[in-house]
Amino acid sequence: MGEAERGDAAPRLYVSYFCSHGHETRPAFAAEATIPDHWDCPRCGLPANLDSLNPPPAPKTEPYKTHLAYVKERRSDKEAADILTEALIMLRARRDRGEVLY
Ligand SMILES: [Zn+2]
Repeated sequence: MGEAERGDAAPRLYVSYFCSHGHETRPAFAAEATIPDHWDCPRCGLPANLDSLNPPPAPKTEPYKTHLAYVKERRSDKEAADILTEALIMLRARRDRGEVLY
């Protein structure tokens, strides 16, 4: 971009970065700039590095879990069912008392 304006643009270094989705991005750096080890993939936002055969793994993002999923993780299904039943009973009791439920 703009490099041909006066024909004496500073030398640029194009460096390829690779993300784990197989995207390649080639930002240009000034020749004297320090080349970073990592670069964020502009296409998917994952981290990318200089090693096409060994791109950085996607960061572990916790998938969205429902409250029930968390409960199930910690307890057996039976216990979870009991807790759920109990919660429903409490909710119904609150509703019966005319409380506003959120
Ligand atoms: Zn990518």
